[in-house]
Amino acid sequence: MYSGFQLKGKNAIITGGTRGIGLAIAKGFVDCGANVTICSRKQDNVNSALAEINSDNVLGVAGHVGKSDDLERIANAAEERFGPTNVLVNNAGTNPYFGPIVDAEVGAWDKTMEVNLKGPFLLSSLCAKRMSHSEGSGGSIINVSSVAGLHASPMQGIYSISKAGLIMLTKVMARELGRQKIRVNCICPGLIKTQLSEAMWSDPKLERTTVEAKALGRIGLPDELVGAAVYLASDSSSFTTGSVIQVDGGMII
Ligand code: NAP
Repeated sequence: MYSGFQLKGKNAIITGGTRGIGLAIAKGFVDCGANVTICSRKQDNVNSALAEINSDNVLGVAGHVGKSDDLERIANAAEERFGPTNVLVNNAGTNPYFGPIVDAEVGAWDKTMEVNLKGPFLLSSLCAKRMSHSEGSGGSIINVSSVAGLHASPMQGIYSISKAGLIMLTKVMARELGRQKIRVNCICPGLIKTQLSEAMWSDPKLERTTVEAKALGRIGLPDELVGAAVYLASDSSSFTTGSVIQVDGGMII
């Protein structure tokens, strides 16, 4: 059997790993043999995710991705428990404002940029420096962006801009870090059934109109993101960097 997708020897940090897409990726990584540190803001969410995954290969740390001190604490705890981190998944995201961009409050802009863009910038910078100094084979950074970063999403403008920024952060870091054997890639999910997107699928009529024009004609599930993340974390993707992988059921073709 082809073994390129196994993650033995990989120590991963997954932000927002306590529910939705992040939790699905955490479970998938553990199944493939990785050690995983999950983080999110609320200790209760961390505790219930740890109980659900139920593995000695998972550590949970509460922290906010927009706060440097929290990120340092999370990275240190991961390293103390498992050794040097060689995979980072910047997955935590938020979308607090729905409406015309010209009516948005500056607070919505700041919050969205803090979580979706500043957090990945800070944590990637911190982890990349450690990856480049540690013995061994560099590392893999995976940013969870969105199809909203590929095309202008009306009424979700700030989110759309933050996710477009995350795609460019991916590309810049991929170019700058390649010679240090650090690969940086990006996944763009389409509409996935999670708490974040609840407003789009809780009304079946709205869900239908949202997905009916798309190639697969349905909403995606968090587990359907796991394969792309495992690929990018694993040695199978050793020649892949700066890439943007759409996992969107044919939402944007
Ligand atoms: P979700 O179910 O709402 O989960 C978000 C996770 O992030 C939770 O674990 C949450 O836990 C954590 N989180 C939120 N703010 C945080 C912060 N400031 N610091 C640390 N952790 C934080 O969302 P999801 O749908 O799985 O989204 C995951 C990623 O996929 C996001 O980047 C999102 O933009 C992207 N995405 C989602 C969709 C979709 O349709 N669902 C589509 C495209 C892209 P706490 O509340 O405990 O902090």
